[in-house]
Amino acid sequence: MLSVQEASEQILSIVPKMPVVQVSIDKADGMVLAKDLISPINIPPWDNSAMDGFALRAEDLNAESDTTLRIVGMVAAGTFPDFTVPKGCASGIMTGAPMPKGANAVVMVEESNGSYTGEVVITAAAKQGQNIRKQGGDVTAGAVALAAGTVLTPAAIGMAASLGFAKVPVYRRPVVAILATGDELAAPGTPIKLGQIYASNNVVLAGMVREAGGEALDLGIVPDNLEASVAAIDSAISQADVLLTSGGVSMGEFDFVKASFEKLGAKQAFWKVWMKPGKPLSFGRVVRDGREVALFGLPGNPVSCAVNFLQFTRPFLRTMVQHPRPHLPVVNATASEKFYDRSGRAKFIRVILTQTDAGWVVSKTGAQGSGILSSMVVAHGLLLMPTDVNTYEAGDRVKVQLLSTAFLERATR
Ligand code: AMP
Ligand code: MG
Repeated sequence: MLSVQEASEQILSIVPKMPVVQVSIDKADGMVLAKDLISPINIPPWDNSAMDGFALRAEDLNAESDTTLRIVGMVAAGTFPDFTVPKGCASGIMTGAPMPKGANAVVMVEESNGSYTGEVVITAAAKQGQNIRKQGGDVTAGAVALAAGTVLTPAAIGMAASLGFAKVPVYRRPVVAILATGDELAAPGTPIKLGQIYASNNVVLAGMVREAGGEALDLGIVPDNLEASVAAIDSAISQADVLLTSGGVSMGEFDFVKASFEKLGAKQAFWKVWMKPGKPLSFGRVVRDGREVALFGLPGNPVSCAVNFLQFTRPFLRTMVQHPRPHLPVVNATASEKFYDRSGRAKFIRVILTQTDAGWVVSKTGAQGSGILSSMVVAHGLLLMPTDVNTYEAGDRVKVQLLSTAFLERATR
């Protein structure tokens, strides 16, 4: 049986890299930029006004008294001034509009009598350069505006847009096929027979795939027999970069995932990881039409399935797209109560984080059974208890892997 560390190293050592594609900026949210984005232009493209007011020559203004200047023009945003502001004169100017020649400062309209025609009375002094946004002050032409490896947040996409790029070179999102296995499973929204339960892993995995930067392809439920498993997995492989199955990887009589993977010629497979929850995990890969497809046979129990995905599949998917942060973030916290587990495995314990003046404090979510999804729903993170530790006492410093940063919004609840 492999340790979490060994399994993680094996999995991450053979990650196929996704190809670079040009994606429309409105679809690129969260994707990783594959090449430096060099700015073809200056931003701003010319000196422009930061205020609605008057473009003028700072030296024309009296320091101690009001100054009357003759209005020689008006520059609205979207126009470009073809005139010069001579000595003793001013031009009306709107926020973002280009500076007319001759002017070296902008006085805001509040520091005037507000007259944009004839003459204006300026009631303040001004310094040269005041309220002027300089050409290239944000980005200069020819500079790297966004470096390769940047994760495209809304602000980064805004930067690409302001440079005029409608498309950006990014690593294609891996297509991740999802198959649940089990005769007991029924799709939500369908009538349930005695002995059946609703399948939840498909939607949990689909959501986690999207968060990890993949494109989820939910292929539904496969019954527990070898022919059906092989056929469904075979068809999934032909449509996807990665295949996730859930269930059917225990040692039960009806667990056909491992046999199906082998029948389809999977290489480099392993079948168990020394962790809790989530011990049964199959990982392998097959070559299909010259493409390498990774196979994750995740456990069926909903919490095991999710925890396994987060420890192994999420870093795998993020590495496929060269994401700079493949692993979930980990924070230090203080145990508020005793944690005990003598399984000797690497433990991932669902916890709630509470913010106190002394920092983050961590408490249990309740029952930790691997099928208890409700305690995953309320969990902010997973307390990491290594193989050689079986107890944390109240007051001990511990490490917690964050399930999402959304917990910050509800951490004080
Ligand atoms: P298995 O590994 O197939 O024996 O599944 C372990 C447990 O997880 C069983 O109780 C299954 O009913 C349950 N399970 C398997 N797949 C799903 C699923 N997609 N949604 C909810 N529970 C599941
Ligand atoms: Mg099963």
